[in-house]
Amino acid sequence: MPKLYKNFLWVVLILFGLTILTSSTYEPAKPSGDINLSQLAEKINAGGVEKIIVAGNDLEVHTTGEEILRARKEPEAGLTETLSNLKVSASALSGVEIEVKEESTASFWLGILIPTLLPLLIIIGIIWFTTQRAKGGMNQAFSFGRANVKRLQASKDRVTFNDVAGLKEAKQELAEIVDFLKSPKKYLDIGAKIPRGVLLMGYPGTGKTLLARAVAGEANVPFFHISASEFVEMFVGVGAARVRDLFETAKKAAPAIIFIDEIDAIGRERGTGLGGGHDEREQTLNQILVEMDGFERDTKLIVMAATNRADVLDSALLRPGRFDRRIILDAPDISERESILKLHAKNKPLETDVDLRKIAQRTPGFSGADLANLLNEAAIFAAQKNKKTVNHQDVLDSIEKVMLGPARSSRIVSPKQKEITAYHEAGHSLVAASLKESDPVHKVSIVARGNAGGYTLKLPSEDNNLKTKSQFMADLAVMMGGYVAEKLTFGDLTTGASNDLENASSLARALVTRYGMSEKIGPLTFGKTNEMSFLGRNLVAEKSYSEAMAIKIDEEVRKFIDDAHKTAIKIITSRKKLLKEIANALIEKETLEQEEFYALIGDLKPILR
Ligand code: ADP
Ligand code: MG
Ligand code: ZN
Repeated sequence: MPKLYKNFLWVVLILFGLTILTSSTYEPAKPSGDINLSQLAEKINAGGVEKIIVAGNDLEVHTTGEEILRARKEPEAGLTETLSNLKVSASALSGVEIEVKEESTASFWLGILIPTLLPLLIIIGIIWFTTQRAKGGMNQAFSFGRANVKRLQASKDRVTFNDVAGLKEAKQELAEIVDFLKSPKKYLDIGAKIPRGVLLMGYPGTGKTLLARAVAGEANVPFFHISASEFVEMFVGVGAARVRDLFETAKKAAPAIIFIDEIDAIGRERGTGLGGGHDEREQTLNQILVEMDGFERDTKLIVMAATNRADVLDSALLRPGRFDRRIILDAPDISERESILKLHAKNKPLETDVDLRKIAQRTPGFSGADLANLLNEAAIFAAQKNKKTVNHQDVLDSIEKVMLGPARSSRIVSPKQKEITAYHEAGHSLVAASLKESDPVHKVSIVARGNAGGYTLKLPSEDNNLKTKSQFMADLAVMMGGYVAEKLTFGDLTTGASNDLENASSLARALVTRYGMSEKIGPLTFGKTNEMSFLGRNLVAEKSYSEAMAIKIDEEVRKFIDDAHKTAIKIITSRKKLLKEIANALIEKETLEQEEFYALIGDLKPILR
């Protein structure tokens, strides 16, 4: 609080100045001249005085002998009166020239005012100082309607895309935003509507905050950073006021970026009653939506937000015109990890034996933040050993340190786990590639995402909203692929397949009860679905059929699953060698893109069911 110190300094200075002033006017009385009054009277009677100059109580006595003497008279009495009391004869006095000099008015008034005003001034000073202090405190107490927004000047702590390793696709998408912020006119002139909201989704530490700052740095615009939890305080209505304040401030600085971090803190789905209906949160969220809706077409403001819980976000946030631009930040794969390590190794003195590629191989499941932390720990290790450089062993040692960190252990996998996951995903992808009706494999990865140890991404080659029964059957077989691969390879099962089985069961049930795709039951649908808000978005089916029909449905579901299971077994047993090749490639590279994958398996003859 430098202002407080400044005030304090002023008060001290003023007091000091006053003290000097008063002390100079209140000098202790000088030894009262060279003569006293009776001596003066004698001198006058003897005719030895020519002139007396009176200035206040000070007398300047000019003698006939050209001497100047000083004397002081009594303050209350006049000079002539005093002298006549001292028996100076009138005739003797008439021979003396008496000149009265004005006392200087300034010193006269100061002499009167200072003794009266000084205490007053001191009191005023003290009161002023204390109120100033109290006001500082009060400002804080009454400032909760103002957003505690951190404005990063573009020039200071500037982060650019060069400081973000990997995340190529995310950067590509954001380049467009940067271009708009740099030259908005180009877009506005051509009538383009610019996205208002960009939502960055990704697990903690994947670089969402970093990327948002990099966008601001690239575009060289002000960056307003606030964490959503800061909107919500114990006072109702504060959040909405803060949102208003934030947008107002940012609009003044436009073109600019507003970055709302951890938006799930307020952007949770409303009205589910889950997590406690929180009125304040809803108001805050509504205010954000209102602000974003109120943007003019030429508002050069882009709202970025980050979350690691995109699944719980309110759908109103995701509507067009709001956060309609969504960017997913994946956990880094092996080569991305290597480049992140390279980036963070720049300012650390690494010895030549450090092989970052090997470190990347050893760190599946590490996020960007984990990797940054890893190198930092390695440097700490080296420093503890009083070394000036970091060697390979230091980095290896710190892997364990970071892995054993409580929150991370679940996401980071052992080599055995990695192998199982590789075979599991190889199973999915192999079945998908072997079935003509299945969508082509887009990406296979054993980089953990959330609960899943890995994933196989299939994307339809063309947009089709209608799906055939044989496509569904292929999907079911692909889902069983992971389970079958694990079982055939290791003779054992892990919990990794449970999610697949669950999905397969519900898909098979839907085929029977909703799509009428069972031969035996035919074109009937069962179960009315309604959204029950207190269960979140889960669909709760109301049972509206007989027990006998329920048994029949269960049988049919079972048959679908059995068929899929058999298909998967047939494919995987006949292509065991290929399964192994895919799994090994996954263990080595962790992620196989479409081209790599199809190059690996070569020209597969589709296995027709
Ligand atoms: P998030 O907001 O997604 O939780 P951050 O953006 O705060 O993660 O990232 C934390 C730190 O991790 C960053 O400051 C940076 O040092 C490091 N980091 C994360 N991802 C990357 C990346 N892709 N490239 C370089 N550093 C990264
Ligand atoms: Mg963050
Ligand atoms: Zn699976």
